Amino acid sequence: MESQKSRNGTNHYENVTCPFCGILCDDLEIGPSGDGLKVLKNGCAKSVAGFERPLSEPKPQVDGKDVSLDDAVAAAARLIKNSRLPVFGGLGTDVDGIRAVLALAEKGGGIVDHALSEGQYRNFRVLQSTGWVLTTLTEARNRADLFIVAGTDIHKLHPRFFERVVCNEASMFSDNPPKRTIVFLGDKLDRSAVVGKRIGEVLTLPVNVDRIGEILDAMRALNKGATISGDTIGGLPRAAVEDLLARCKAASYGVIVWAPPSLSFANADLTVQAISEFVKEINLTSRFAGLSLGGNDGATSAGAVCSWQSGFPLRVSFASGKPDYDPERYAANRLLAAKESDLLLWLSSFSPDIKEPDTDAPTIFIAAPGIKPSRPPKVYIPVGTPGIDHAGTMVRVDNVVSLPLKKLRPSSLPSAADVLEKIEAAL
Ligand code: SF4
Repeated sequence: MESQKSRNGTNHYENVTCPFCGILCDDLEIGPSGDGLKVLKNGCAKSVAGFERPLSEPKPQVDGKDVSLDDAVAAAARLIKNSRLPVFGGLGTDVDGIRAVLALAEKGGGIVDHALSEGQYRNFRVLQSTGWVLTTLTEARNRADLFIVAGTDIHKLHPRFFERVVCNEASMFSDNPPKRTIVFLGDKLDRSAVVGKRIGEVLTLPVNVDRIGEILDAMRALNKGATISGDTIGGLPRAAVEDLLARCKAASYGVIVWAPPSLSFANADLTVQAISEFVKEINLTSRFAGLSLGGNDGATSAGAVCSWQSGFPLRVSFASGKPDYDPERYAANRLLAAKESDLLLWLSSFSPDIKEPDTDAPTIFIAAPGIKPSRPPKVYIPVGTPGIDHAGTMVRVDNVVSLPLKKLRPSSLPSAADVLEKIEAAL
């Protein structure tokens, strides 16, 4: 896809999709600034850091020495060919990049896993075992009158979520939509973005994040008519839990929001399960849904593409020639720590914050400029960022839409898909 220009012919773009977190806001305005880009409208700190990253185009390297792209590709192909069990990790890329990783892993007999899989699996385990009722960003934006934020500092992960989904004044279904109640279930969660005419009551129920499941299980039991003894439930006064249940029952469309990376404690999938089972219970008499956020660094695209191509959501091995799925055994960190894998191909084209696992296995580091390896890689190949240096597509965190990404600036950096296809061809 070609770079799209505005009517006056300048590199000024409207309705740009931002790839720097899972909610993929698609209303940004981006203009040129020197050799680089400037976020002109609808940005946030995260998108400004991503779009306004200085443009640089370093050379590929093998053993720390500059080489041509062809030589770097040949060296990467040799490493994969000679590897007993390569791991293809990171996977911070777009849909085309993931397709290319899967093709390469299949041909090279390796294992695929995303950098944020640990969090994703808190959700996948529930989806695979008991299921859930989830809503979408659009549905929540237009219909919800109660939001419960479960243990997640949404404002840090997705700086515009509240602005776009919770505080929006317009609704598709009413010129005068009702005010919303927002309940923060957790300790020290940032409420600063919950402002504006749509917002009614804002409550905080300070509870440790690892006790949220207990509270939701108790609410489900209370709703079924069970008796629960004690003055506190999950560390909250019993009256506060009963009040929250009453609000859920009275809501015309309630939504519980969480992001799996924020539920970072042992067996956190049981908290996701408690949320999901409570939502099912309340749905018997009212309308209620879950909304899972996260999906940063292309995690949602990686899970979606891997599912539709292999039948399994990541942590898939192609070592036997056919897809084999094991969410424990095929975790990249575990494979490298146990030295079951002898090669890491790490792919990262969005965030410098995500680091490759600590390993002494040789590394093929394919990354956008500005994303530095933690230790010298055997092969380094710089690639463009989807939605800046080349066009592409990404799957939004609610898994219902894929959004197109634009090429916004002239760049000679290849896409990750281009590089991976070349490596595959050289195998
Ligand atoms: S909230 Fe996320 S998708 Fe939206 S502009 Fe900020 S980083 Fe980009």
